[in-house]
Amino acid sequence: MSDTQKLDFSAINDPTLASFNQQKNLIKRMLKGNSATCSDCSKPLTLQLPPNTKKAPKSAKAPGIYCAKGCTDIELDMEAVALMK
Ligand SMILES: [Zn+2]
Repeated sequence: MSDTQKLDFSAINDPTLASFNQQKNLIKRMLKGNSATCSDCSKPLTLQLPPNTKKAPKSAKAPGIYCAKGCTDIELDMEAVALMK
């Protein structure tokens, strides 16, 4: 398999799918330990893992990706995340 990204224009023209793929790529990047910033407020994004994983801090927040101001609020479906790896 090549690492070259093949552009699928039918997918790009579908805004729902495009943002879904953007979110998926963001989640993947953050799960690898990369940092990311909010596209709205440019503040660092926080990856919140569920309490049953080793890396998760003690918090009542649902697993997801959040920014300090709350404009980015992506809830993680851990079953979907498991399929991404
Ligand atoms: Zn933000």
